[in-house]
Amino acid sequence: MTKNDGRTDAPTAAAPPRDMKIFQLPTGTYETPAALAFQGGRFRDRRHFAATAVLVQHPRGDVLIDAGFGAHAQEHIRMLPRFRRSPHTLGATASEQMDTAGYDRGRLLGVLLTHSHWDHVSGLDSLDVPILVPREELAYAERSRGDRVFQRVAAEHERRVYGFDGPAHRGFDASHDLHGDGSVVIVPAPGHTTGSVVVFVTLGPDRRFAFIGDLAWQLDGITCGAQRPLLMRMLADSDPAQIRRDLDRVSALAQHMRIVPAHDTRGYGDIPLLVPGPGADEAP
Ligand SMILES: [Zn+2]
Repeated sequence: MTKNDGRTDAPTAAAPPRDMKIFQLPTGTYETPAALAFQGGRFRDRRHFAATAVLVQHPRGDVLIDAGFGAHAQEHIRMLPRFRRSPHTLGATASEQMDTAGYDRGRLLGVLLTHSHWDHVSGLDSLDVPILVPREELAYAERSRGDRVFQRVAAEHERRVYGFDGPAHRGFDASHDLHGDGSVVIVPAPGHTTGSVVVFVTLGPDRRFAFIGDLAWQLDGITCGAQRPLLMRMLADSDPAQIRRDLDRVSALAQHMRIVPAHDTRGYGDIPLLVPGPGADEAP
């Protein structure tokens, strides 16, 4: 454990309410050769990238971390440059899964985006709730030419812009504490896009998560320190050096919490699905 700056690994005090819960809402997958997903991956090893929203329930209001694929995902795929399209499997949208589970939409404060790329925002097309986003990411999304899906799906949504008004958190320079109790803390990680964030969710001392968005596409980015392949870093990332720094920060936390890259189905592990009835109530 390093104590050099007093913030690298010291768990920040969090006082999450006992009735906080978390669920995964997988909305589909898309296929990518491992060779394009992380350095050292093989072409023949194909990875199914997850497009999963995560529902974090809290007495002061719930949030969805990202929105997954939406009802118009096929149309959104057609909006992308041809080289970015890949075979997709579409499942039920986050909106459909919430309805099937009998979820009360009135609890939902909004969708908290890790970043604004299409595969994280497509599901906003069927969610009539605010978008929680930092100013830097709104600017990024509005400048984007190759991926205009955010501009399409977010046009009618209220945007709740937040700033990083809180102290350094787990090695990151600043933070925003969503509920004021340390249970959902957002930090800036501006490498993949200029306004990308990492979301730390703490349900209890032994149940901590870091939702790192596309800081790494697969868990190999954490377990083996594997970056994206050079070509993909150049194509996909705003600041590859920043990604490297943030990957190191997150890897140092892996012993304290579950690290969840947005697109690795393995990362969601034991996070329960949102299902109807008592199953959802009993879930952690
Ligand atoms: Zn992505």
